[in-house]
This record gives sequence, structure tokens and C-alpha cells, in this order.
Amino acid sequence: MDTPVNLLHLDRQGLQAYFEGIGEKPFRATQVLQWIHQHGVTDFAEMSNLSKVLRQKLQDTACVTPPKVLLQQTSVDGTSKWLLQLDSGNSIEMVYIPEDDRGTLCVSSQVGCAIDCSFCATAQQGFNRNLLAGEIVAQLWLAEHTLYKQGIRAGDNPDRAISNVVMMGMGEPLVNFNNVVSSMRTMMDDFAYGLSWRRITLSTSGIVPAIARLKEQCPVNLAVSLHAPNDELRDTLVPINKKYPLADLLAACRDYIEGKNRCKVTFEYVMIKDINDSPQHARQLVRILQGIPAKLNLIPFNPFPNTDYQRSTPEAIEQFRNILMNSGLMTVTRKTRGDDIDAACGQLAGQVQDRRKPRQFKNIPIQQEPLE
Ligand code: SAH
Repeated sequence: MDTPVNLLHLDRQGLQAYFEGIGEKPFRATQVLQWIHQHGVTDFAEMSNLSKVLRQKLQDTACVTPPKVLLQQTSVDGTSKWLLQLDSGNSIEMVYIPEDDRGTLCVSSQVGCAIDCSFCATAQQGFNRNLLAGEIVAQLWLAEHTLYKQGIRAGDNPDRAISNVVMMGMGEPLVNFNNVVSSMRTMMDDFAYGLSWRRITLSTSGIVPAIARLKEQCPVNLAVSLHAPNDELRDTLVPINKKYPLADLLAACRDYIEGKNRCKVTFEYVMIKDINDSPQHARQLVRILQGIPAKLNLIPFNPFPNTDYQRSTPEAIEQFRNILMNSGLMTVTRKTRGDDIDAACGQLAGQVQDRRKPRQFKNIPIQQEPLE
């Protein structure tokens, strides 16, 4: 017998094609999307608005199978982290962060990461593969339905546990472009999670050509991992900068928000002691961001085993922030959440089998749209 098709892996377009392929009407796609994503149903027998014959056909040829949870840890501050099993020993992590007015899920887009930022735990794992669209959506499916059943709600929203998604887990989402876009379409689909683009944030290390494609195909909020105000320093922290230097990256950011009303690019800046946290760095940052509608997110460095870096002192962070604020840049210092379960930015690890670490960035396969 053929392996069953996992319907969790298909967005609306994919489901329509699937139903057409088995001789069914395409509107079945929206019915099944609702069952799977809105009601969390995995058993076709419960999908009561499908005919008995179709339910049986699905039972014989398809499945709705989320990844297996290897571990769920909950922090004293309510943050939850999951370790999810994928194929052949690979696993990924995702994190849920509750706040007063929202519930945010931080999802992974790749097994490991090939960008190799010197201050990031995921980088130490090496890279294995891109996640499928369904493996990205399955993280939201699993977290939403598990948390909802546990009575957790996003702020005062009675209907859901997760109100916001950030593509800020393991991996570089813009290298896995097509699958990430397909997964975000399901997150935004009214028959699935119905999240507005304002509630989805994609964070990138700066894959410049893909930023313009994102604007064309799925313009969600953009966050950029800047971490340094000049090329010399950024080359050492975020080595993809050698391929896409700051001037090109900032031009791409400007273009991204052009024509988008009241919209800003978020720039993430990890605060590493004596590396990028001096007042001179702050002033240089102000200069290079001039004219770009920007929000600054300072992230105190989160340590992990075998790193030589240290977190900036609270005084250095405060001074840095004041320089940015005084120049009119909206700046927040990100609170570190889930410290006791290693759930903070840059600490997600999972297990990466058969790691492949490209030596040069020209070898990183960036998913391309087929030429039409
Ligand atoms: N690859 C994407 C998605 C990762 S998002 C990107 O680079 O943007 C996670 C954010 O946490 C990024 O801004 C990343 O640079 C930052 N980060 C990585 N390691 C960190 C660490 N050890 N401490 C604090 N922030 C870190």
C-alpha cells in the first residue's frame, strides 16, 4: 500500500489539488482545513460534513499526523518549550511565550542552521535540512491545540491560545523560502488560523534577494538580525554579511516597507559584552538607520555551553538604549523568558543528524521559485 498522504503538510492550494486528484470537488479543501486546523481533529471519522464514502477514502489513503513530542518543559514564568521528533533522529524545538495581551509561538524553519552566526547555539548544531511547510504548520497545530486543552488563552482572547507567530526558532526562514511562505499562508488562511499579517513576524539574518520576494508573495512583519553597525564587525558575528553587506541589506529593508503605511522594520541587536555594546556602536547604529522607519529590539546575549561570549552589563544596555532613544529610535530591551528551561533566543538546539556545514555561503541552497 502507498504511504498515506499527511494532510497536515498541505496548504489550501495543496489540499485543493489533492482532492481534485482523487476525483473530489476542490471545496473539500476548506472543509478539511477547518477540521484539522480549527477543530484540531485528526480522525477522518469525526469529519461529519464529509460523505461516508469520502471519509472512508481518506482513512485508506491519508492521515493527519503531527510530529511526536519528545519533551515539553514549562518555565516558572509560563514559557513552554517543546522538543519535537522528525525523521531519522532529527528533532527541532519551538517555544510558547505568554504575555498579558498575547500568546506568541516561536517556530523553527530548518533542522539546524547553516548561517553560522558566532553567538548562536543553533549554529553549533550544523545544518541538516529545510522543514516541509507542514512541519512548520504542525508546530502551530500542536501548540495551539495542546495549550487550548490545557486552558491557556492568548491574553483575553477566549478562542485561542496563540495570537502571534514569530519565525524566530531554529533556522534561517528565508533560505527555506517556498515552504515558509506556504506555512505562513496556512497561518493566515481564514479556514485555518486566520492570523493577520500583523501577527506574524519573520526574522532573517539578511538574505537580501529573498526580502524583495517576501514583499511580493507574503508581506508579513520583517525583523532583521543586525547585531553590528558596520561591515567589519558584522562579518564576524553574522557571516552572511560577507555575501550581503549592510548597505544592500538596509536598502532591501527600505524597499520592504515602502508603501506600507505605519509599518516599521524591527532590527534585532544582541548585546554582547565588549563586542558590540559600546556608545560608539550605538551612535554608528543611529547613523546607518537614519531614514528607515525602524524599531530596535535589544536582546541581552543568552549564553549556552562552549561560548566565549558574555552578556552585556545592564548598565551598558541601558546606556546603549538611551543613545538610541535620544536619537528618536523606538527601542525596547527584550525580556529574557524561560531562562530556567533554556528557551531564550539563540538557545534552541534540538538534534541535528548528518550535519552538513557549507564552508562558503555560495553553497547554501536558497529555495528558488520555478521560472515560469
Ligand atoms: N535565522 C533567523 C531566525 C533566528 S531568530 C535570524 O537570524 O534572524 C532568533 C534571534 O535571536 C535572532 O535575532 C538571532 O540573531 C538571535 N540570537 C541568536 N543567538 C542568540 C543568543 N545566544 N542570545 C541572544 N540572541 C540570540
